[in-house]
Amino acid sequence: MTTILLIYTGGTIGMIKDYNTGSLRPFNFDKLIKNIPELNQLDCDIDTCSFESPIDSSNINSEHWIQIASIVEDAYENYDGFVVLHGSDTMSYSASALSFLLENLGKPVIFTGSQLPIGDLRTDAKENLITSIQIASLKQNNKPVIQEVCLYFEYKLYRGNRTTKLSAENFEAFWSLNYPALGESGVHLKVFSENLYQTKKNKKLIVHKVMDSNVAILKLFPGFNALLLESFLNTPNLKAVIIETYGAGNAPTEDWLIENLKIAIKKGIHVINVTQCSGGSVTMGQYETSKHLQGLQMISGKDITTEAAITKLMYMLGVNISPKLFKTVFETSLRGEIS
Ligand code: ASP
Repeated sequence: MTTILLIYTGGTIGMIKDYNTGSLRPFNFDKLIKNIPELNQLDCDIDTCSFESPIDSSNINSEHWIQIASIVEDAYENYDGFVVLHGSDTMSYSASALSFLLENLGKPVIFTGSQLPIGDLRTDAKENLITSIQIASLKQNNKPVIQEVCLYFEYKLYRGNRTTKLSAENFEAFWSLNYPALGESGVHLKVFSENLYQTKKNKKLIVHKVMDSNVAILKLFPGFNALLLESFLNTPNLKAVIIETYGAGNAPTEDWLIENLKIAIKKGIHVINVTQCSGGSVTMGQYETSKHLQGLQMISGKDITTEAAITKLMYMLGVNISPKLFKTVFETSLRGEIS
């Protein structure tokens, strides 16, 4: 019998309405599970564990990610797959973070959640949860079909570190614009094996448990000025920043921008160029408006999402990648997050 561990962290899926305030708040997991008698019909054994106090995912931080990674580590030998129930707001960040923390992962870790609570008549929670469990149970030649951190939502299975939440309204809330879906649920459950991440064979799972949050994201906008950049780059303890640039990695060519970035890089702050477009890639040098950034030795995020970039930075700083290798390692795909 296939065994699955269901890890409940919180999110809309398990929320109920607080009639005093009118807001949705996280709810007790056992009550949640009772709402899904269908789970008993699945062809696998399901065990559950829950955060002591389930959270709205807007409250997530790197300690929670390490907590999830530790749960997977402790249970790794006893289960064939893992399903993480999580709020959709920061699910792409969490799935990205877990992809970095779980090195040489050889089993599925599927993040899912819902836009409506499981108790709601029109809920999307049941399909998301049931299909995620089925996906986590898939085996071929007695080996798990999926061996990476994924996100399943509204009939689509994606590589977790390629996703972004693009809608606060549609059931189809997530997209993976720079990498194709890994699977699709219709009348049949299809997995596109050519898109799956190939874990190196016979490598033992390594679970990283240190992340460094001294990182930041700065989104450019027309009107952005020297004063803002200067105060941002002088944030105490700042070790790495993502500059969300325009289009293919473009930014103003003004002297104050170049000078401030030069000083920051000289101080040892890693500066990463990630496009603020949801799809496409940074190509420094394609335009004059990015040639100057290339000259500064700015790190290219290529087609990485901001969610994967910021969590990759926290991970890389946590494992103490040497400053000399930092640019090369960041620009290399570690878990399939970059094309
Ligand atoms: N605010 C909720 C959360 O992220 C939204 C959701 O679950 O979809 O926890």
